[in-house]
Amino acid sequence: MNDQTAAPSQQMFEPPDQPPDQPPAPRGRTPASADQPPTPSNGTPTPSNGTLTPPDGTLTPPDGTPTSPDRTPTPPDQTRNPSSQPPDMREIVGSHDILMVTLDTLRFDVADELAVAGRTPRLAALLPGGRWERRHSPGSFTYAAHQAMFAGFLPTPADRPGPHPRLFAARFAGSESTAGTSFVYDTPDLVSGLAEVGYRTVCVGGVGFFNKRAALGSVLPGMFQESHWSPELGVTSPTSFESQVALAERITADGDDRPLFLFVNVSALHQPNWHHLPGATSADGDTRASHAAALEYVDRHVPRLLAAMTRRRPCFAIVCSDHGTAYGEDGHTGHRLGHEVVWTVPYAHFTLPAAARTAEEPRA
Ligand SMILES: [Zn+2]
Repeated sequence: MNDQTAAPSQQMFEPPDQPPDQPPAPRGRTPASADQPPTPSNGTPTPSNGTLTPPDGTLTPPDGTPTSPDRTPTPPDQTRNPSSQPPDMREIVGSHDILMVTLDTLRFDVADELAVAGRTPRLAALLPGGRWERRHSPGSFTYAAHQAMFAGFLPTPADRPGPHPRLFAARFAGSESTAGTSFVYDTPDLVSGLAEVGYRTVCVGGVGFFNKRAALGSVLPGMFQESHWSPELGVTSPTSFESQVALAERITADGDDRPLFLFVNVSALHQPNWHHLPGATSADGDTRASHAAALEYVDRHVPRLLAAMTRRRPCFAIVCSDHGTAYGEDGHTGHRLGHEVVWTVPYAHFTLPAAARTAEEPRA
């Protein structure tokens, strides 16, 4: 069991403030093509016909006043900025398929640099303003971070003071981050909470904590109705993400029409990742450059995953890291340690429209 897996992050609607020496974020969205993911929107649930307004990059993070789960839910105060509304998860749950992707071990700084440099154009097209939100993970390695995320504690916005309204929350008296827009459930975790309202819950595993080879690696997958893992999906496979996407395509096309909560733990960023850097060998080992090359590899296959997830109904997606990792900073290597490069993670959530009806649809 590799313990070098850590916590995810999540970003909100507004890209983080950039230091003055940063080049401007890419703002334009390229025209849709077969190689581009569907155009996302942020925060506003979509009707089942999938009509969406693309994000304009000007949205700001939710600024909600926390409410007790024991009170009648009330939306956070949005009067100062109507565009700052968080998504109303009470409307999204039940009407949307839900995708949660953890880009395991992805560092915020690497993700941000690549987005700005245009090296991950398909992911950047999904992000407000083309930038990841900077967040703090609830854990420094995979197990801790995912336990927290599945309990409803996604990575915390790092660039503004809280409390921050949560998308999902188990009913918990005194919670200061459960808002009127939160999906509140009576089970201990989000996975079973979604199952209770009719979702099919499926885990596509990646790193060791999802490999089901021993008791510890079965805890997180065991939260789902269905879980999948094979060596082709794991950290040593240079084609792991393609295999995960192919599995997701089979899951979404198998005829089960229940609303779907699909979780994918992307293993490509996690060590070993040297095989994603052209020309590198195992003797070179993992580096910040090979970490970046692994994200470019993932970026190339993201559109297929999103196409699979929008096949039947609109999709609400959360894409983030569970923790970063150190490549020698201050003498540290790896994660499960308290360093800025470990705690700080990229985050985004967005809504995608359902795919257009095709000739395969039965005629009226
Ligand atoms: Zn991890």
